Amino acid sequence: MTDMPLPPADADDRRAIKPVICYPNETLPKAPMALYQAARATATKVDEVLIPARDARCFEVPAGQFFRISSVEGPQVGDLNLWNSKDLSERFFSGKTRALHGTHITTGERMWTSFPTLRPMATIVEDTLGWYGIDAYGGSVHDVIGTRCDPYTGNLLAGDHYHYCCHSNLTRALAAHTGMSLQEAEPYVHDVLNVFMCTGFTRDTGQYFMKASPVRPGDYLEFFAEIDLLGALSACPGGDCSSEHSSDTAVCYPMLVEVFAPEKGALGDWKSPAINGYDRSHGVAG
Ligand SMILES: [Zn+2]
Repeated sequence: MTDMPLPPADADDRRAIKPVICYPNETLPKAPMALYQAARATATKVDEVLIPARDARCFEVPAGQFFRISSVEGPQVGDLNLWNSKDLSERFFSGKTRALHGTHITTGERMWTSFPTLRPMATIVEDTLGWYGIDAYGGSVHDVIGTRCDPYTGNLLAGDHYHYCCHSNLTRALAAHTGMSLQEAEPYVHDVLNVFMCTGFTRDTGQYFMKASPVRPGDYLEFFAEIDLLGALSACPGGDCSSEHSSDTAVCYPMLVEVFAPEKGALGDWKSPAINGYDRSHGVAG
């Protein structure tokens, strides 16, 4: 171990430099929210899936339809994975979504796909927790900073073998839905959108924290499907994430996913976003 290095004479000046935003997002294509709202007004429910507590289920949403994740019965956090239903290699990219929109996402912001497609896959059209903002601890709702609770980290930290973490729940659900084995399905499970979870980073140590979710039964988060989607949602074993996860200790509740289809023609000539325009030559002349 080395001792903490002594600060240089101009340490305070260096610390006082103002930050710049890594990815100014004013040039991101804006979601046509008025069109989505008009289409949503014509929509009727075509499917619903109840996610049991401490378990996960898959659901499919064709491009141009809407899906809503609701709190039912009690405060509960959900871990969401999304894939292109026709090509599971195209999936949600939590890290780049965070870089583009910030640590938590809400109405008008989007879930982006992995490289090389990097395009919007779902747009948030309604968030009943949109009032929460950023609290005095720096906490906010619906984060793209957590990864998902998983049995490997639990084993690393405590040596245990807990089987109902979101990672395992999502793996079982994807395997059951697609017919893949657990071993085939597991690598498709990826970093999540933490639906309803209230999180942030501590200012003193920079550690990832969680606190009791402000979600109550009746609250929901609703999305527009930009591409054909396969989704999987896990009702996290952390419940409202007020104390602990990765165990059977917390009180957990089911969650509801509903799918809504707008009337034919309600989206006009809307089309799924094109895949990313980069030419992929990576500096090698063609
Ligand atoms: Zn979890």
